[in-house]
Amino acid sequence: MSAREKIAYLRGLIEGQNVTENASMTKFHEALLGALDSIAEELDDIGGSQDDLREYVEDLEDDLMELRSELGSELALGHCGHGDDSSEEEGEEEYEAMTCQLCGKDFFYRPDAYDEDEDLLCPHCGEPFEG
Ligand SMILES: [Zn+2]
Repeated sequence: MSAREKIAYLRGLIEGQNVTENASMTKFHEALLGALDSIAEELDDIGGSQDDLREYVEDLEDDLMELRSELGSELALGHCGHGDDSSEEEGEEEYEAMTCQLCGKDFFYRPDAYDEDEDLLCPHCGEPFEG
């Protein structure tokens, strides 16, 4: 039962009671019901404001998402632009260009994929290769 329904119910109860002969009681009841009506109206207003507020917040979230993606791409560009970090980064595969002295062909290999004492094999001639 909503506030309005409760108030309507209360009004029905009061009006159903035969209190009209008591002028001061009638005045009291009218004031009471008037106050309750005002409260119900304000509650309706707040309900409406909440809808507005929710829309406003949703708009704000959209703006934030947009801003975040713009900032994110800017940061990513900035990160790539300044390649001052030469150390190995997580998940980044670094390849090194080599020229095989046996077959003379170029190939790429990942230094971090080989141990120090492990032989590097040329993918062209399959021979162990020493850098
Ligand atoms: Zn080779």
